Amino acid sequence: MKALVLDRRGKDGLSVRNFPTPERPPGNALIRVRAAALNHVDLYIRDAGKGITHPMPMVLGVDAAGEVVEADADSGLTPGQRVLAFPSEFCGRCDYCLAGQQPYCRNISIIGEQRHGGFAEYLSMKAHNFVPIPDDLSWHEAAALPAVRPTADRMRGKPLTDRNIALHDPHMGRTSSSNAKRHVPAALLIPFVPLVDRPAFV
Ligand SMILES: [Zn+2]
Repeated sequence: MKALVLDRRGKDGLSVRNFPTPERPPGNALIRVRAAALNHVDLYIRDAGKGITHPMPMVLGVDAAGEVVEADADSGLTPGQRVLAFPSEFCGRCDYCLAGQQPYCRNISIIGEQRHGGFAEYLSMKAHNFVPIPDDLSWHEAAALPAVRPTADRMRGKPLTDRNIALHDPHMGRTSSSNAKRHVPAALLIPFVPLVDRPAFV
């Protein structure tokens, strides 16, 4: 497949080239990526990467949306289904996961950071990381939702407040987007509940 691959830090270390298509182990779903958003963390990983210990080459891309190609029969996903990718694979066993705070999982693995990301034709993650999206949400809109808003809030230096709306799924924890309300089914929207502060996150 074609992918945007980081072979070494800096602009010169980035190129679009052939890269092995990800496998789909049991429990994972494979999607064909239709849109991916540029997140500030992508630039950080490209240029600095301080505190990030992933191996290279690495396919970048934290935010992505696409259609399901292959998934387990009991995954709740079907081929052709439109989904967005929650970028953080979580263990489901640590104290944060068991408290419903999966974004803070102690064993977290973020696409484009610790594992290959969404700037590629295909993306494989645990099936519960893929969230179905409505038909009237464009690919670009869907790809902009997963991680961009928390990053923007960190850049502004202002914490999320109870005025924000959270995009929520019981299996994956929560991320936020106050602009998502007009696009996302009501079942996915809940008032934001402040999380345990963890400045190192994002
Ligand atoms: Zn965990």
